[in-house]
Amino acid sequence: MTVPVTLAILGASGDLAHRLLLPGLGTLLNTNPEYEVTLVGCAVDDLSQEEWQERVRGALGGKCPRASIEQVIATTRYEQLDLTNAEALRKLLDGLGDAPVLYLALPPAVTFQLCEALTTIELPKGLRLGLEKPFGSDLATARELNKILARLVPENQIFRIDHFLGKSVVLNLLGLRFTNRVFEHAWNNQNIERVEITVDEALALEGRAGYYDRAGAMRDMIQSHLLLVLALFAMEEPPSLNERDVRDLIALMLRHTHLWDDDPAASSRRARYTAGSLQGEQIPNYVDEPGVNPSRNTETLAEVTVRINTDRWFGVPFRLRSGKALGDARNGITVAFRPVDHVPEGFTQAPPNVLSIGMKPANIKLGLSTNAESNRFELNQSVLATDLAESPLKPYGEILDSIFRGDPLLTVRGDVAEECWRIVEPVLKAWQHGLVPMDEYIAGGAGPSNWKA
Ligand code: NDP
Repeated sequence: MTVPVTLAILGASGDLAHRLLLPGLGTLLNTNPEYEVTLVGCAVDDLSQEEWQERVRGALGGKCPRASIEQVIATTRYEQLDLTNAEALRKLLDGLGDAPVLYLALPPAVTFQLCEALTTIELPKGLRLGLEKPFGSDLATARELNKILARLVPENQIFRIDHFLGKSVVLNLLGLRFTNRVFEHAWNNQNIERVEITVDEALALEGRAGYYDRAGAMRDMIQSHLLLVLALFAMEEPPSLNERDVRDLIALMLRHTHLWDDDPAASSRRARYTAGSLQGEQIPNYVDEPGVNPSRNTETLAEVTVRINTDRWFGVPFRLRSGKALGDARNGITVAFRPVDHVPEGFTQAPPNVLSIGMKPANIKLGLSTNAESNRFELNQSVLATDLAESPLKPYGEILDSIFRGDPLLTVRGDVAEECWRIVEPVLKAWQHGLVPMDEYIAGGAGPSNWKA
């Protein structure tokens, strides 16, 4: 049975649409050929229908079956529009039919203006809105955006995208926690000493200064993605995997989350890369990258330590870190367990257990202390490792699938977006006031030499 969907990509000539959204759609049409997508592209660029069709054909990619590509090409159209103009939007919506998906792949200021313009016109029944981060630029603007959105459609027809919250990451974390007796009973401050959530990228700016220089590592990664991973890691057991059950508990966990010692300066660090070599490529100083404005003082590596004010987690530091142009790409959670209280006399001190949960690639490694081969009284760390199942879809394929099915489980609810800003905003203010020094690290290295692991 076919499932017809009208998908209007607003900002269709942009980087996200070309590099992530359309290739994601290609993987989705491969695994779910039942979707019959009418694709409408809109942007300011003056593109002919042929140029647009060629772009779509190229971007859907090799994973998309030929028949699906031809079905999309036969029905797709491009509309050159100023998407902040209410009359232009009304005409666009009139031509989309019931329950279309409007995917806003637009600069944040344009998204704001577009949503305001939508409040002045009649919207199609069942309209779904896909929104790209950032959801505001601070708590006040996040609230303002949420208020406007609330006037447009019900909350569960709004899909705030966090492509980090792919199905594999969410299901692997919840499955690991709540279906394994060995873990869930150890998941507390009696057993866990500290937790680190790290996304270090072995990529520099990749030509995205226009966006990144205004965001920086804290807004780009920690405020949005890493706090959500923290909430999934630490939350209580949801009654089910339904969106309300899971997202209620994510929101609750974030409401319990605060900066370590409530001190924005002492709980955070920031740094910026200097010239170096990254995977054989010469990288300039961040401030010399094309499009970077040094007066913005943007960080390319950020770290913040938070605490969770619950009985389960009291006293456990959660360190969130993310940066660009680092030598080793790392993407996962490290759980450091407390050492055992007592080791029988005769054994050397046992190294404490360490559990690593990789998000990309998805895997689990558990460091166990075991007897050394040469001397069985000596204890070494051995590692039990297994790969976890990953989705055949690219992250944006998963996102589009959830929007098409109308299931917002994997997206960010409005109150959650506000909580994330509430947590990091004092840090951003402390940085703005120069209360935390901007350290430096060489591109391709491990981070600033004065940051000890
Ligand atoms: P780009 O600047 O590459 O593209 C922006 C798009 O918006 C272009 O198609 C542009 O059209 C269109 N546009 C701008 N103003 C108007 C207007 N008034 N009316 C109609 N169209 C307009 O941005 P990205 O694609 O990189 O990013 C889009 C969103 O996605 C941002 O919110 C970003 O934060 C988010 N995002 C991007 C990621 C990425 O890797 N690119 C990753 C995660 C999130 P034209 O070119 O014709 O002017």
